[in-house]
Amino acid sequence: MTEENLNPFQIVQQQISDAGKYLGLDSAIEEILKEPKRVLEVTFPVRMDDGTIKVFKGIRSQHNDAIGPCKGGVRYHPDVTVDEVKALSMWMTFKCGVVGLPYGGGKGGVICNPKELSQGELQRISRGYVEAIASIIGPDKDIPAPDVYTNAQIMAWMMDAFSRLQGSNQFGVVTGKPIIVGGSLGRDKATAQGCVFVVIKAAEKLGINLNGATVAIQGYGNAGSQAAFLLNKLGCKIVGLSDSQGGIYNPDGIDLDKVYEHKSRTRSCVNFPGSQSISNAELLELPVDILIPAALENQITANNAARVKAKIVAEAANGPTTPEASRILYANGTTVIPDILANAGGVTVSYFEWVQNLMNYYWSEEEVFEKLRTIMYNAFDNVYAASQQHQVDLRTAAFIVSISRIAEAIKVRGHV
Ligand code: NAD
Repeated sequence: MTEENLNPFQIVQQQISDAGKYLGLDSAIEEILKEPKRVLEVTFPVRMDDGTIKVFKGIRSQHNDAIGPCKGGVRYHPDVTVDEVKALSMWMTFKCGVVGLPYGGGKGGVICNPKELSQGELQRISRGYVEAIASIIGPDKDIPAPDVYTNAQIMAWMMDAFSRLQGSNQFGVVTGKPIIVGGSLGRDKATAQGCVFVVIKAAEKLGINLNGATVAIQGYGNAGSQAAFLLNKLGCKIVGLSDSQGGIYNPDGIDLDKVYEHKSRTRSCVNFPGSQSISNAELLELPVDILIPAALENQITANNAARVKAKIVAEAANGPTTPEASRILYANGTTVIPDILANAGGVTVSYFEWVQNLMNYYWSEEEVFEKLRTIMYNAFDNVYAASQQHQVDLRTAAFIVSISRIAEAIKVRGHV
């Protein structure tokens, strides 16, 4: 099968097999991990603004809860499929496992087009979805969070719907909430901050001085723009940026305050004065020390991987590198910090939010980032050690670290 034909569900199953070989993984555990424990498909009626009733379809996949409740986002998108949600729930298990959170993976989706929905319709869909899946979620069962086209407001509606069903406030049922109803400080910067912590560790290992190191970032959105800002504070020179409209390049460094202002005004970073216009494809091949894909999946493929010049690729996005491209980059000596490690800062601060909800005691942003630093540094060290021990790339090593934890829990619980 060519890599273009592989769907995400097949890719994650392959990743489990690849890592399993190095672990001598019990075949029954491999079989358990290759399918979600539970997938619930629901339909629910929603009254639309014009008075008609529309029936929506929702999915919640719970991959594994051997080391704790399931955790993962809910996406609202017209193209959501069961296979995609299943695969994303599996990656969540491995993401939580690699940083050592006491969670398994979950993921949800509602087939809808948020761009065509009013705020009232979005609220009724969010409440309808939660009512339909209420029996399988909860602070000690499965804790949803934002994903593509869902946000803090939607999480507040979901939390409220679940709390009403229970008859008491249940802030810990979802994360990514507004601060006033139990959200955590630092959640908005968490993914980028976590990514920067592991870039610091990788640069140390490779002897790259971040002060003066050059950086290109694909996807000047939430994760990408915050990563640019944080790396710039460490002395990095941000030379390339892009969004869905195209990219910009300035080998002398891009002024981040000015590009932020330009993007706020024009809604894109393209045509930023003093920079050269480049395509998204060209951005990936810039002569830089660090490349951060922070946009979409399948950006670095077998077609362009050999032309990537960065010494470090830190995957802030989920799935930006195809399996074949990963092999090419590894063979060329590029250090790829895999998505399940590089963007795990987001779920880690979601975990902190849940812990704060359970304690009813809230931390400062400094405390949140200090705890995040400890977790990300430890996770990088564990993954790096596994890559050295087994002589594999960091992606396979991250799966090895994660799967060995989950396998141990499955064994001691007596499931196999
Ligand atoms: P976002 O929507 O804020 O930003 C995405 C950016 O990508 C936007 O600037 C958009 O213009 C750009 N983009 C879209 N299509 C593009 C294309 N074809 N080429 C180049 N750029 C394109 O999203 P985000 O929250 O920053 O998430 C970005 C990635 O990080 C996603 O893969 C997401 O799954 C992953 N991620 C985000 C978080 C988080 O907490 N935000 C956590 C884990 C993983």
